[in-house]
Amino acid sequence: MARATAPRRKGLVVIHVDGLSHAQLSTAVARGHMPFVARLLQTEGYAALPYRCGVPSTTPFAQAGILFGDNSEIPSYRWWDKKANLLVVFGSGSTFAQVAHRYFTGRVPLTQGGACIAALYRAGATDRFGPAYEERHTPDQRDAGGRTIAAFLLNPVALYFWIRHSGLALFRIASEYARARLARRRTADVYVIADIYHEVVVHHLTRFALLQAMDEGLQTIYACFYTYDEAAHAFGPADPNTLSVLRHIDSTIRLASERRLTNRGGVDYEIAVLSDHGQVETTPFSAKHGRSLGSYLSEWLPDHVITEHRGQVFAGNGQARGRVEVTYSGGLAHIYFADLPGRLDAGAVESRYPGLISRVARLDGIGLVMLKDAGDGMLATVDGRRSLHLPLVDDTRSLLERFDSPDILAKQLTRLNTFDTAGDLVVFGTYDGHKQVNFEDQVGGHGSIGGDQLRPFLLAKKTWNFEMSAVTNSSDLYPMLVALRDRA
Ligand SMILES: [Zn+2]
Repeated sequence: MARATAPRRKGLVVIHVDGLSHAQLSTAVARGHMPFVARLLQTEGYAALPYRCGVPSTTPFAQAGILFGDNSEIPSYRWWDKKANLLVVFGSGSTFAQVAHRYFTGRVPLTQGGACIAALYRAGATDRFGPAYEERHTPDQRDAGGRTIAAFLLNPVALYFWIRHSGLALFRIASEYARARLARRRTADVYVIADIYHEVVVHHLTRFALLQAMDEGLQTIYACFYTYDEAAHAFGPADPNTLSVLRHIDSTIRLASERRLTNRGGVDYEIAVLSDHGQVETTPFSAKHGRSLGSYLSEWLPDHVITEHRGQVFAGNGQARGRVEVTYSGGLAHIYFADLPGRLDAGAVESRYPGLISRVARLDGIGLVMLKDAGDGMLATVDGRRSLHLPLVDDTRSLLERFDSPDILAKQLTRLNTFDTAGDLVVFGTYDGHKQVNFEDQVGGHGSIGGDQLRPFLLAKKTWNFEMSAVTNSSDLYPMLVALRDRA
C-alpha cells in the first residue's frame, strides 16, 4: 500500500477553548471533567502552561494575536471606530468586515493554506462554519461552510451523536436554568440562549469540520469552541454546570487525537490546545447603582446623546450638542466623543468637559480610568491621577500590583493606550481579588484586568520546549506556533 509506506507529512491542529483560564482548566481536570486531558498530562508528555493574553482580555484581541501575530487597534470585544463612524462587532451582524482592510496588512496567518474553523477572522484557505460566517462574501467561502453543513447532515454517525447530545444538553441547560431561577440565583438570560445555541449546534459542526479537515490532510487546522465561555457568562466560570460543558470539549480533543495518525489525509498531526483568555466572577455595575454608567454620563452631559452599546440610549434634553458612544466588554468600557475626530488626550477632555474624568473615576465600582497624554498615558482613580510612565513611580506600582505584575501590566496598558480605536476614556471596573465590577449583565466576565481573565493556558508537549514566562501578549504565541507548524 503506497500510503502506508510514503513518509507522512507533518501537520498542526490547534484546538481553541474560549474563555477557559489556566486555573479553571486545572479545576476541571482535578474534578474529572476532562479525563482525556488528564491522560495527556499524566502519560502523554503534555503540560498545561499558563500565559498572559494581554489587555484587553477578549477573543477578538487574543485570537488576532494567535492567528496573525498582530492585535493592534483591537481595543475590546466591541468598539467605536471614529474614522468609519461605525460600531465594530463580531459574530451575528458582524461589522468587522467594513474595517478589515485596515488590519493585518502584510501578515501571513498561522493557518495559511489550511482550515480556520469557527474563528472570528478569515485566516485560512478554507474558512468554515463559524460565528463570523455571516460576514463572508465571496461565493467559494460561503460554499466551504455550506459543504460542511451538508456533509454533516449526510453523515449518520455525526447526526446520531448530535441528536443524542443536543437532547441531553438542552435538558441539562434548561434544568440548570430553572434551578438557578428557583434559587433566585442570578443568570444572564441572553447568555443562556447563546449557551444552548453554541452547545447544541456550533460545537458539533465545528467538531465535524475539524475531523473532516484532518481527513482532507490540510497542514494547519485551527478550530474554536465557545461553549465554555458562553456557559461561564451565563452561570459563572467555576459553576459545576459550566465545568461540565468541558466534557464535550474533552471528547473533541480525544477524537482529534485518535485521528492524529489515522486520518485519511495521511498527515502526522501535532495537537495543541489553548485558550484565549479566562473569566472572573462579576458584580454588574447596574446592580450596584440601580443604573448604568451611561445613565451617569447623561446626567453629567445633559446636552449630549449617550448611546450605550449593549445598553440604552439617552436622548438628552433639547438640542443635542454632542454624541457619546459607550461600548461595554465585560469589565471594560470605552467612552468616545464620537463627533470629535481622533482620540482626545486628557487635556482636551478636561478643557471640553471640566471635572468629567474625576466624576467617572470617583464612581463606586470604577477602578481605573485610562487616558492619553503627552507621555505614556495617565490613570485616574478615586484617589487622584497617576502617571503610566516607565519606570513606574511607587504609587502607580502599588495601584497596579493588585491586578498583576505592575511592570508587565503597565506595558500592556500603555500599548492599549496607543490605539486610535481606544475610547477617549478607557474605564476598568474594580477588582477585589475575586470579583470584578462588570458593565454587562453577566455572571462571569472578562475583557478587563485582574485575576484569571488575564491567565489562559497552552496545553503543549514538554518536548516542544515552549517558554511561557516571556509571553505577555497572545501575539507572542504566533511565532511559537509557526515554528511548531514548520518543524522539520
Ligand atoms: Zn466571552
